This record gives sequence, structure tokens and C-alpha cells, in this order.
Amino acid sequence: MAEFNLIKDYFSALTPARSDVQLGIGDDAALLQIPQDKVLAVSIDTLVSGIHFYPDVSPESLGHKALAVNLSDLAAMGAQPAWVTLALTLPEVDEPWISAFCGGFAKLANGYGVQLVGGDTTLGPLSITVQVHGFVPVGEGLRRSGAQVGDDIYVTGCLGDAALALYHIESGGAVDVLDRAYLKRRLERPEPRVEAGLALRQMATSAIDISDGLLADLTHILQSSGVGACLELEKIPLSRSVADSLRIEDDWTRVVAGGDDYELCFTLPEVHRMQISELENQLGLPITRIGYIEEKAGLRCVKQDGAFWVPEHAGYQHFAP
Ligand code: ADP
Ligand code: MG
Repeated sequence: MAEFNLIKDYFSALTPARSDVQLGIGDDAALLQIPQDKVLAVSIDTLVSGIHFYPDVSPESLGHKALAVNLSDLAAMGAQPAWVTLALTLPEVDEPWISAFCGGFAKLANGYGVQLVGGDTTLGPLSITVQVHGFVPVGEGLRRSGAQVGDDIYVTGCLGDAALALYHIESGGAVDVLDRAYLKRRLERPEPRVEAGLALRQMATSAIDISDGLLADLTHILQSSGVGACLELEKIPLSRSVADSLRIEDDWTRVVAGGDDYELCFTLPEVHRMQISELENQLGLPITRIGYIEEKAGLRCVKQDGAFWVPEHAGYQHFAP
């Protein structure tokens, strides 16, 4: 148990104290003060070794990603991150590993002023569960359900990087990629789009973060909103590496169905187009219009020449026009 006290020592001073934390790590529960005019946005995600990450991934990257994927969910709600709890299952007490994990976790947490207020530590197969808590002004949260016929569809950043990175690793480097370091960073160190989510609160009619691939996640918006959409495939923003891989292989499936992008997809009325380009400049982040919401149910992907495109994955037959 002494080893476990050691772990708690790592965690209790990991992030700076916030004034809305009455009691943080060290008691049976944390005591937290929610601002009166806000509602709490809560989200949780688990990463399991061998399923969500390679067992030999750098612990620092893992600490970053475990928090990043959760902050991405808050971003998609337009929530301001505040507190986080961390449940760690570790196969052994490996101090250099824990220290590096904490480093990656703390750097991202501190960047957003998020305080670690509690958690749990157990021995077992490596698994990491993070729960984040954020604030949304009453009535202002972004949901999946508000998309309207005629709305534009946008995505932040570019898509397909993480999927290409995975493909590169899993093929044993058999596929050539232009910029390996960039792709690795995009897979292991996604940047949650928190600022974009906050700015969209007043504008977007719906939003989601892309974790399972654009097609699957946009479909969640469509189904929640009771609408359909047309996706203009060639408008999807791509990195140099992904564009190059498409030039060689011409298969969009990995780009739109690969997942692990952690970009935001959202809908908004045309009247906000100017504001979006201002936001793009302000954040230094590409925000690209990739399609529009239609009345007809389902998601149709069209190419520049007007032809419909249907993804290869069997799971996606419902994208047929
Ligand atoms: P209890 O036995 O009452 O559940 P624990 O011994 O599990 O308490 O934890 C003691 C304190 O350390 C609690 O405040 C808990 O939130 C905190 N803690 C334990 N593990 C972690 C962790 N991985 N990250 C952050 N806080 C942790
Ligand atoms: Mg207790």
C-alpha cells in the first residue's frame, strides 16, 4: 500500500488548485462548487491497452490522449473544462512510467486550467478511465439534435491523419507516408478543439466530435436531428500526407470512416459564414464547409463530377443514395 500512497502523492500536486474546488484529492470524495448560472457537462472515456492504444506507446502521449479525448467531448458540447477525475489500473508500480504519464496529462490539464480532483488506483491490466466536468451557461450547450434543413456542415482541422498513421503502423511501414512525425503526433497527441466549441455556442445548431469517423459521427447528428445530408467529398480538408496517400490509392474510406480524428463536426445557418472565417483566423485553425443539411434522410457523398460515392466498409451500406 505504501506504493499506492506514492501514486497519490504524484496526483495530489499534479494540477494547480482552482477556487471552485472546496476539497480535492485526499478525502472520500471531492467537494466542488458549480457556478449558479451554469449547468455541468460530464463525460467519461476509457482507454484499454491493446484496444485503444499500443502497450508500448509513450506514457507521456498516453497521459495526453486519455485527457484529450475527454476534453474533445466537452468541446463538442461547448463546455468550459473545469475538473477531472482519473481511474488508473496499472499492471505494476513503475515510477518512471507513472511520472511520464502524469507529465503528459498535467501539461494538457494545465493548459486548460483543469484541476485533477480525485480518482482511483488499482492493480490489473493497463486501463485508463478519465471523467471530465465542464460548465455551460444554462440553455447554451451544443447538442447533436439541432441541425436544420439548409444548414452548412463544417469540420475543424483536417481528417484522416490518425487513420493513416494507424494504417502505416499496422502494415509494418509497407505504405509510404510523407510526414511520419506529423501523423504520429496526430494519432497520439490530438488537440481537443475546446476554443472552437466555446465560440460555436452562440452559432452552431448542432455539434459532435469525430471519434468514430466522419460518416458515423455525422450520421449521429442527422439521426438526432431528423434530417439528411449531402457531403461534398473533395471539400474535406486533408493534410499533405493524406492527400498524397489518396493520390496513390484513391480510396476515401479511411479518411471518412477511419476515426480517431478528434476534430469537431457541426452545422450552422448560412448567415454565419463570415463569422466562421473570422473564427478560423482568430484560432489559426482551418474550419471547412464540407456539405449541407437536406430534408431527405440519410447521408449522400458526392464527388465533384456529381457521381455518388459509397464507402467500401460493409457497415456503411446505408450511405447508398
Ligand atoms: P477510498 O478508499 O476512500 O476510495 P482511495 O484510497 O481510493 O480512497 O483514494 C484516496 C484519495 O486519493 C481520494 O481522494 C482519491 O480521489 C485519490 N486518488 C486515488 N487514486 C487517484 C488517481 N489515480 N488520480 C487522482 N486521485 C486519486
Ligand atoms: Mg473512502
